[in-house]
Amino acid sequence: MNKMDLPILPLRGVNVFPKMFLHFNARREASIEALTYAMDNQQIIFVSAQKDPSIEDVDVTADIYEVGTVVRIKQIVKLPGNVSRVLVEGLYRGELEKVYPMDGASAFGRIRVWDDEEKVMLETERQAQISMALEAVEKYGRSHDNKPPEAAIHALKSITDVGMLADSIANHLIKSVENKQRVLEENDSEIRIQLVLQILNHEIELAQIRQKLQRKTKSVIEKNQKDYYLREQLKVIQSELGDAVDVGEEIEEYKTAIQNLNADEKIKEKILKEVNRLQRMTIHSAESSVIRNYVECMLEMPWNVVTEEEINLKKAEQILEEDHYGLVKVKERVLEHLAVRKMTQHGMAPIICLVGPPGTGKTSIAKSIAASLQRQYIRISLGGVRDEAEIRGHRRTYIGAMPGRLVTALRQAGTSNPMILLDEIDKMNSDFKGDPSAALLEVLDSEQNHQFRDHYLEVPVDLSRVLFVATANTLRTIPRPLLDRLEIIDVASYTENEKYHIAEQYLIPKQLKKHGLTKSQLRIKKEAIYRVVNEYTREAGVRQLERRIGEICRKAAKEFLMEHKKTMTVSGKGVEKYLGIPKISYEMKCDEPQIGVARGLAWTEVGGDTLSIEVTVMPGKGKFQITGCIGDIMKESASTAMSYIRSKSQDYELANDFYETVDIHIHIPEGAVPKDGPSAGVTLVVSMLSALTHKPIRHDIAMTGEVTLRGRVLAIGGLKEKILAAKRAGIIEVIVPENNRRTISELDDEVIENVKIHYVKDVRDVIELAFAAPSKETC
Ligand code: ADP
Repeated sequence: MNKMDLPILPLRGVNVFPKMFLHFNARREASIEALTYAMDNQQIIFVSAQKDPSIEDVDVTADIYEVGTVVRIKQIVKLPGNVSRVLVEGLYRGELEKVYPMDGASAFGRIRVWDDEEKVMLETERQAQISMALEAVEKYGRSHDNKPPEAAIHALKSITDVGMLADSIANHLIKSVENKQRVLEENDSEIRIQLVLQILNHEIELAQIRQKLQRKTKSVIEKNQKDYYLREQLKVIQSELGDAVDVGEEIEEYKTAIQNLNADEKIKEKILKEVNRLQRMTIHSAESSVIRNYVECMLEMPWNVVTEEEINLKKAEQILEEDHYGLVKVKERVLEHLAVRKMTQHGMAPIICLVGPPGTGKTSIAKSIAASLQRQYIRISLGGVRDEAEIRGHRRTYIGAMPGRLVTALRQAGTSNPMILLDEIDKMNSDFKGDPSAALLEVLDSEQNHQFRDHYLEVPVDLSRVLFVATANTLRTIPRPLLDRLEIIDVASYTENEKYHIAEQYLIPKQLKKHGLTKSQLRIKKEAIYRVVNEYTREAGVRQLERRIGEICRKAAKEFLMEHKKTMTVSGKGVEKYLGIPKISYEMKCDEPQIGVARGLAWTEVGGDTLSIEVTVMPGKGKFQITGCIGDIMKESASTAMSYIRSKSQDYELANDFYETVDIHIHIPEGAVPKDGPSAGVTLVVSMLSALTHKPIRHDIAMTGEVTLRGRVLAIGGLKEKILAAKRAGIIEVIVPENNRRTISELDDEVIENVKIHYVKDVRDVIELAFAAPSKETC
């Protein structure tokens, strides 16, 4: 091992490898001194890279790497400005062991020279390493845009010494001084070539990533350029076609519209803000169309537009009368409501809710109310609405966001005080998307609705000027808090007679007109109308009736044209010609008294119906079974009836343990509509008792009423529909709870004529009436 004392020359940003040449400029005083000293001696000097190339005054004990190269100076050329151009040739690796102080600026050091450690390795191994290194060089060349020159690669290929190949590659291809230094510091040739390969592969990977990123950014830029180019072309094409959309013009239009808008400043500011955002966007971006929709929606809202309301009770009464037959109480209530409205000057009166079966004219009454107040009429159908957003709107962050139905209705109305009909308020459902009825609460609350917040609009909307009217088929499904805000007006089903009058005075003229016929051309006789009412429709209202009349008109119109008739009359029998054989058959009364079958009366959403309850008693072990399409309340009524009978078994001459020796099966045929409710109580008791005691029940009597465990009969609802249903089935005696006497007295004479009504307080009275032999007058 060799040691030498040599002057030290720090290098900035370069290293020298043994057997390699390097050109560099020397300018610093210490460097020039060191070079001069070397030239005067053996022209040999120790060079090593500075750890930080920016340091000007180098302290060789700390600022340079200890491992460097012993080089021979081949040439020094003096350049202007005290700069020397130096060419050196690397001789060996060397390590700085000690630094001697010198008089001048330069330093002198003891260098331990490293022997070149060429490992003894197998020829195949050597060749493998060389070829791997060369492969990496090729790859490096491919991955770099500024490839190493061909000559350099060619020169590399001619090197057979592994250690020297590693140095040569590092010298030519490795860029960072740190990495070069790492190679320089490795004396073992085998490890050195591995290190070079590792650095090279890392650089290749980096280069590949860089290339990929470059390609990507390049393609994005190209796409932007292409889009821009296409858009410019599109503009030219559009202007050629004469339908150019000038964004600037559009924005200006919006701005003038905002200026002219009759709205509060805050709202105008909000719209203006959005328009300014729109201005900064590319026209065809998805977001710009969202903003455009929003701006247009806001501009179309009738912010402070109010139509003059005129409450003239006489006129209102006239309009209601003109459009509707009967409905005396309903009309009265509506007029009272309007009177209160007029007196209180504004809509503090509760919201009207018309409740009744379908087709009974609820919507049409609401329309008449709007007409009589000269308000715009808008209908919002709430049937099946289950998403709160339908009422309150979607937030604009959602794709396809829309305002809620109320805002849409206002926009459609073009005024902020229309009449909005909330149709089928009982058919709303709530699910995981929220509860729309809760949102409606806010809408209908006069304390809150002047500041209604729609999620889409994001600004408060005043709904206090809107007149709301709601309709529903039943009150059962309306949540309690909502119900509290409504003033309920019952619209009951129509009697046969009412239906006849409605058909004659309203539906037939309406349908004739619709089909281009005149009164003199087509006459529908009274019997024909009654037949259509009874045999072709089964409903509480008149919707199907109107449809059937329409059908007759349609077929008649065809006959007029095909058979050249002048006039036509549809008689009772003639109905079948137009409507085919009758479609509806009602369950009529039985021909004779039966054991275990009692006739109850039920109220359904489509009107009244009779229901026969069948009970069979068989020898058994006390099994109690109830079947049919019924709800929970009906099942409870059956258990109550059973308990009542058991508690009174002695009164009815039944053994104390009668229920242990028999099985009882109650069946309630489904009929057209499922039934539920407590009013079947009396019917259940009677039919069960009849089956247990083998006493027949009168077939010409029907009953309704809730029964308590003690046998008291409680009041029930829907009497009008029930009595009509009984009459339709040919029954002319009806048992009703005593507490319903008032309800009956309020019914039209037409409903109760030809029916004998028995009032009962206790279930015993029912039993007495139902089990008695038929009286002569009812036979
Ligand atoms: P609902 O809203 O109760 O379901 P609609 O108001 O839609 O019923 O009424 C159905 C049809 O029956 C309408 O054409 C309506 O004009 C007519 N109608 C209902 N009741 C009457 C009535 N009392 N007098 C005249 N037409 C009626």
